[in-house]
Amino acid sequence: MIGLDEAKEFVVGELRALDVEVLATADALGCALGDAVVARERVPAFENSSMDGFAVRSQETAAGAVRLLIVDSIFAGRVSRRTVAPGEAMRIMTGAAMPAGADAVCPVEDVLVEGDEVLIRRRVDPGDCVRRAGGDVEVGQLLMPAGSEVTPAALGVLAGQGMTTVRVHRRPVVAVLSTGDELSTNDQLAPGQIRDTNRPMLVALLRSSGFEPVDLGIVADGYGAIKEAISDAAQRYDAVVSTGGVSMGDVDHVKGVIGELSGGRARTMQVSIKPAKPFAFGRVGDKGTPVFGLPGNPVSTRVSFELFVRPALRLLGGHRRIERLTMDAVLDIDLPAPGDQKVHLVHVAASLGDDGRPHVVESAAHYSHLLSAIVASNAIAVLSPGHSYARGERVTIMVLDADSLASR
Ligand code: AMP
Ligand code: MG
Repeated sequence: MIGLDEAKEFVVGELRALDVEVLATADALGCALGDAVVARERVPAFENSSMDGFAVRSQETAAGAVRLLIVDSIFAGRVSRRTVAPGEAMRIMTGAAMPAGADAVCPVEDVLVEGDEVLIRRRVDPGDCVRRAGGDVEVGQLLMPAGSEVTPAALGVLAGQGMTTVRVHRRPVVAVLSTGDELSTNDQLAPGQIRDTNRPMLVALLRSSGFEPVDLGIVADGYGAIKEAISDAAQRYDAVVSTGGVSMGDVDHVKGVIGELSGGRARTMQVSIKPAKPFAFGRVGDKGTPVFGLPGNPVSTRVSFELFVRPALRLLGGHRRIERLTMDAVLDIDLPAPGDQKVHLVHVAASLGDDGRPHVVESAAHYSHLLSAIVASNAIAVLSPGHSYARGERVTIMVLDADSLASR
């Protein structure tokens, strides 16, 4: 048996981020920036009004109310060819360029229009309701550091710079395959057959984590077939995730295949955790493609994905933050200690309490084959070995869906 930390270190220890490529910004959502993004344009590019109102010479309002002649109207997207001279004002819309001569805008709410004149009803200070050129972004300013994630706001900022392409780490393309003679895709199952639940779950986990899954289907429990499928996938894709065949059964060939294909540098592990104890990892082919052999039991598959696969793939994708959010939660239920020295990973339902802290309100049945029990979970509680947790105690949770903490 090896510890969780050692197993994790074995997986992520030697991995490096994938190459940087140029992508259309529209395709880069969720990718990690390959380089820092530095501003090449000022934003705003020109001084403009932040309100619908009247552009004025502010010193003319120093004593309070003043009547001015309206000499032009400036709409967003237009500029005035005139200058605002003493005794004059210009009607101006939000976002329109400030005219020469004016240094402030009096909002329309604070004026009275009388024919071709406007009564400015209060004092206006220099710069009032004017958006300074470069007030958002100056040329040369660091907008986003390398490795930061391309978020919707980041796409807005890139668009604001007129950037239509961006340099990002390649989004990992990840092959998924299930192994097992018992797995069937037929509508009617023959005696002894089961449906493949791991593959759709893994494909979805990959996609929802920002990776590109490739579904390679089911491979039968034959050494040759598994070897061919994994070595072929390792050539084509950035990572391979398989389930089943890493335990102690007579046809558990996946671990042997990963070992052979990685030239003996792979490890088949018995990690001192529950569920997801058996796990194989190696790097295969000229590219050293990471290959993950996850256990077949569905809850184990899920836990193993969260502990090992997701952080490793985030690292491949060039992300700076590779781990899920972990938090201290208050237990509203008992989580008794199982009688062993393993780290127990229990799917739980957590929600924010009136005290503003996350509370664990329910736990899923603690068996690795009971998949339906985890549907209502939004976190995984990490129980220290041998410690029995009582209601009211604190426990660390790995949050799988932060939004769902808000209300249940
Ligand atoms: P294995 O690790 O191959 O011995 O599989 C462990 C358990 O998980 C067995 O009960 C398998 O039938 C089950 N299992 C393996 N692969 C899948 C899968 N893709 N979907 C659902 N159950 C599976
Ligand atoms: Mg099997």
